[in-house]
Amino acid sequence: MSHEGIRVASKEDQEREDQQNRTLPKIAVTPEKVRVLMTEGKGLEIDWADGHKSAWGFAWLREACPCATCVDERNAEGRKAGQAKPKPTQLLPMYAPPPKPASAHAVGRYAIQFIWADGHSGGIYSWEYLRRMCQCQECTFAEAETKGTPN
Ligand SMILES: [Zn+2]
Ligand SMILES: [Zn+2]
Repeated sequence: MSHEGIRVASKEDQEREDQQNRTLPKIAVTPEKVRVLMTEGKGLEIDWADGHKSAWGFAWLREACPCATCVDERNAEGRKAGQAKPKPTQLLPMYAPPPKPASAHAVGRYAIQFIWADGHSGGIYSWEYLRRMCQCQECTFAEAETKGTPN
């Protein structure tokens, strides 16, 4: 725990900067094994060259779509990557099937792209983006530590 005194930048700006500036070593963003658990409908699993393992559910991935349209939409609604839209309470809930990709393929050597069952396909998930968004306990805990607020 260190107190660095008064900062001019807002807490949010600072957090965003810290996250973007955190450089990851190459082996941390090099996948050794990539598994798309399509038939199980589970999600994406990556074993990284540095020995770390990450996993994301399809619902999370769909809500974390890194395309400009989705990023703008999330920013406008104040949602974080992977955070679902709040469900409308007063309307009868419409059945929405859980997000699932129709297909997935590698983009060069640096990313994976999902063609979602709903037709959306603009998002290119780079290894670096995914590693930064690792949902494992260790990484989410480390993130909560730096942010000071859990969740
Ligand atoms: Zn998108
Ligand atoms: Zn992790």
